[in-house]
Amino acid sequence: MSIRQNALKASDVTLCGMVLLAGVAITFLVLILFLGSEQRTVSVAFQLEIDERFSRLQRRFNTQELKLDVVRRFFVNADDVTEKEFIGFVTPLVGEDEAYSWVPRILEKDLQAFRAKALLNGTSDFSYHEINPVTGERVPLTRRPEHWILLYLLKRDDVTIIPGMDVMSRPGRQALMSKARETRQIVVSEPLKMTNGQAGIFFVAPVFQESSEVPLNDDDLQGFVVSTVRLASLMEQGIPLPSLQRLNVTLSLIDPQHQGEIIYQSEVTAAPSALYAQRLLKVADQNYLVQFRPSSTFLVANSYTLSISLFFVFGMGLTLLLTLMVYLLITQRARALSLVDERTRDLHLLNITDHLTGVYNRRHFEELMERLLVEAIAQHRPLSLITFDVDHFKQINDRWGHQCGDNVLKSLCTQICSATRKTDLLCRTGGEEFALICPDTELNDTRLLAEKLRTLISTVPFEDIGQVTCSFGVATWIPLESFDSFIRRADTAMYSAKSNGRDQVKLADMN
Ligand code: GH3
Ligand code: MG
Ligand code: MG
Repeated sequence: MSIRQNALKASDVTLCGMVLLAGVAITFLVLILFLGSEQRTVSVAFQLEIDERFSRLQRRFNTQELKLDVVRRFFVNADDVTEKEFIGFVTPLVGEDEAYSWVPRILEKDLQAFRAKALLNGTSDFSYHEINPVTGERVPLTRRPEHWILLYLLKRDDVTIIPGMDVMSRPGRQALMSKARETRQIVVSEPLKMTNGQAGIFFVAPVFQESSEVPLNDDDLQGFVVSTVRLASLMEQGIPLPSLQRLNVTLSLIDPQHQGEIIYQSEVTAAPSALYAQRLLKVADQNYLVQFRPSSTFLVANSYTLSISLFFVFGMGLTLLLTLMVYLLITQRARALSLVDERTRDLHLLNITDHLTGVYNRRHFEELMERLLVEAIAQHRPLSLITFDVDHFKQINDRWGHQCGDNVLKSLCTQICSATRKTDLLCRTGGEEFALICPDTELNDTRLLAEKLRTLISTVPFEDIGQVTCSFGVATWIPLESFDSFIRRADTAMYSAKSNGRDQVKLADMN
């Protein structure tokens, strides 16, 4: 039974282990699928974010170019634009951190006349000058064949610019404006220092006197309209703060001279991530490389860590619960089976045992005899039987009472069991009649055993009663003899002992 229980436990453990493994495997499988889809979702969210940001940037740069072209057309189509007209036209176009200016081209010989006209037109505080690039101080105009004089300026900051400055003296301006003059297109500068000291981008448009009949001549250059805008403003204006915080953006110049030099870097730092994207931004003659990386804000906003953790805990919890339930079911079943086994054993024992003495009962005696006889025949071994009956038992009952009689029967069985081998089987075949089956025992040995038992019983006094004797009949199975004949011979020998005076052993006849 214990082997069966152990085997059951081993299979229980295997089954529980399999449930646990299956649960863990399913949990991890679903987690892997979930993680894969989460990465794809984050990647798509990043793409959407940068698409939206890039289109905003492109629109912002294009608008800047477009607005300058509008101002250029105004100058092309109007004669002698006064400061008032300039301000009136440009004011709606000037945004935060932006400035628009009109820089007419003046020949050296025309300087005096131009100043007079400007003052006449109402341009206040007009004085020709240059800015020393080293000291930043105002210095008198250098003699050149032509000058590009800053005449009108509209901007939002408080820095005062006195009209009359030759912008050729400002670093980077001459090359830029010469390029605009040569290409006759709007050109865009690399970041230059603006008059307010901040880094800005200059958009320069040349203004030529257009005529449908005569082709454009370099001498037809009237001047330049220039718009400047703070670089950070170009990159960030109009973008909601949460969006700004989600991306790290850098802007670099793409040309051999600058070799990817970063000219703008957003305040938000890039978080460690494999997500990255770059786009080419074309504005007028300038090409920029815009690089995008996610910030920690973006990664946190698009993180599924919490749901993954919850799913993991849920999956593992469910697995453990299932395993526990399976374990409980199995152990309950095993316990029930063992209980049934136990009860079956008890019932069987009850069925084959005499309730008073605890030795085998008559029914089992017959079963045992049949079985042992088959075995003895098969193994060619002897099988002997001792039947015995208590002498004058009725008198014991009558004299000492039924209870005393019962006690005699019980202690008689105890004595006989203790005096015989484990293989000898004692059965109560009737009221005070017994049979001792002696497997693998020859007739003579059986007789000696019967004699030993007779002596034991008759010499050891019984409690309260004193001497009790029994009469014994001994028989050994004769080959080919029937089961009934074998028992009958033993009984007959026992009755013979009775009739012969009791308290003695009689051998059965051999026929
Ligand atoms: P003999 O020597 O010829 O065997 O005489 P006996 O008195 O032993 O035989 P008898 O057959 O006349 O009486 C047997 C008695 O045993 C009768 C019966 O009441 C009694 N008896 C049978 N079973 C039990 C039992 O379980 N307990 C008790 N106390 N007495 C029993
Ligand atoms: Mg008797
Ligand atoms: Mg009897």
